[in-house]
Amino acid sequence: MTLQGRKAAALWAVLTASAALGASALVAFYPPPSTFASLYPPQSAHVRDGRFAGPACNGVQCRLCPYECFLPEGARGRCKVRANYGGKIKTLVYSQASAVHVDPIEKKPVYHMYPGSLVYSLASPGCNLSCRACQNWELSQSYPEQAPPSVRVPSSLLMKTLPDGRPYGELETTEVSALEPADVVRYAKATRSRAVAYTYSEPAVFYEYMYDTAVLARKAGLKNVMVSAGYINPVPLSQLLEYMDVVKIDLKGFSEKFYKDYTGGSLAPVKRTLLELKKKGVLSEVVNLVIPGLNDSPADLAALSGWVHDNLGPSTPLFFSRFSPNYLLPGLPPTPEATLTLARETALKKGLRYVYAGNLPGHEGENTYCPKCGRALVRRYGYAVLEDRLTPTGGRCPWDNTKVPGIW
Ligand code: SF4
Repeated sequence: MTLQGRKAAALWAVLTASAALGASALVAFYPPPSTFASLYPPQSAHVRDGRFAGPACNGVQCRLCPYECFLPEGARGRCKVRANYGGKIKTLVYSQASAVHVDPIEKKPVYHMYPGSLVYSLASPGCNLSCRACQNWELSQSYPEQAPPSVRVPSSLLMKTLPDGRPYGELETTEVSALEPADVVRYAKATRSRAVAYTYSEPAVFYEYMYDTAVLARKAGLKNVMVSAGYINPVPLSQLLEYMDVVKIDLKGFSEKFYKDYTGGSLAPVKRTLLELKKKGVLSEVVNLVIPGLNDSPADLAALSGWVHDNLGPSTPLFFSRFSPNYLLPGLPPTPEATLTLARETALKKGLRYVYAGNLPGHEGENTYCPKCGRALVRRYGYAVLEDRLTPTGGRCPWDNTKVPGIW
C-alpha cells in the first residue's frame, strides 16, 4: 500500500471509530424506545411456543398465514400476537380470552347447526387483516398488552322460574386472568352451551389456543365453530379442520382490489381456504358484509354468488349482511334493505338454495326454506328462533322429506 493509501485507511479507521463512539454515546444518552418484546414480557403466562415457523436468515419466518412474516429477534408479526423470542416463534395470547360470552348461535351467524342453541364464544386480541369496516376493531386491532389483566367470563347458567311459571336462565360469571382450554370446556358445559366458538376477532392468529381448546371440546362432546376471514395457510388449516364442526368464512368482497384497498390482504388465499373446506367436507357457511358503494355492485354480487355456487356447491349457506357505519368508514350509510334483497335474489337465481339476509330483523331472508316446496323450516327474528321444523326431523323437511345440510 502506498503512503497515501495508508493515510486514507488510517483516516477511514479513525472516522469509523468516531462514528461508532458517537453512535454509542447517542444511544446511551437517548435510549431507543422500548421494543415490542419488552412491552410484552416473554415470561408472561400467555406466551407459549408457537407452531408453523422455521428459521430464516437471522430470525424466524412464521408460516401460519399468507403474510409469512419474517421476524428478527424480539419482533412481532403483522397480527400483533406472534413474536420471535430467543429464535423461536411464540404466541403471545395463549389463554388470553379478552372477550367471552354465551351467545345464541344465530349471532355468529351460523344457521345450519342446532338452531336456537347457546355457544360459548371467545376471542383474543389481534388480527392479521386490517379491515376498514371491521365491526370488532377495538379487539381485533388491539395489542395483547392493551387487554385488561383479568376479565369476567360466564361460568354457569342457573335456571330460575318467573312468577308466571316460565323458566329462564341467569348467567353467573367468574373473574379470571387466564382462561385455559380446560376452563373453556368446563364453563361451556356449565352454561349449557352446545359448542365453543372461536370468533369476534381472527381466531387463526390465536391458533394454538384455539387448537388445544378444540381438541378438549371435541373429547367432551361439544362442537367447535370457527368464525374466520379464512386468511390462513393450508397446512395449519388442514390440521385444525380435524376438530372443527362448522367454519364460517367472512368473504369480504370479490375482487383483489377490494381486498387490497379495504382489508390489507388478498382474495386468492381466502378462496383457497374455502375450496379446502369443501374438499375436506367440513360444514361451512359464507358471509359477505355488503358495504354501500364498495362491494355492492350487481356485477360483484353476481360474481361472488356464481363462484360460491360453482365451486362450493348449491347447498352452501350464503349470508349477505348489513353494514353499519363503523371504524374507518364512519361516513358511509348503512346498507339499504333493497340492496340486501337484491343480493339475495341474485344468489337464489344463480341456484344457491340457502341464502340469507343478515343484521336485518324481520326480513324474509332470515328464515331457512325448503328448496323443494319453499315452506319455511326455521323461522327467525334477529337472534331468536320462532319456529324450528328441522331439529325434530333430523334436518328433513316434514312435508317432502328433503334433506337440509347441517347438524340438527
Ligand atoms: S400469523 Fe401473524 S406473524 Fe404469522 S405470518 Fe400471519 S401476520 Fe405474520
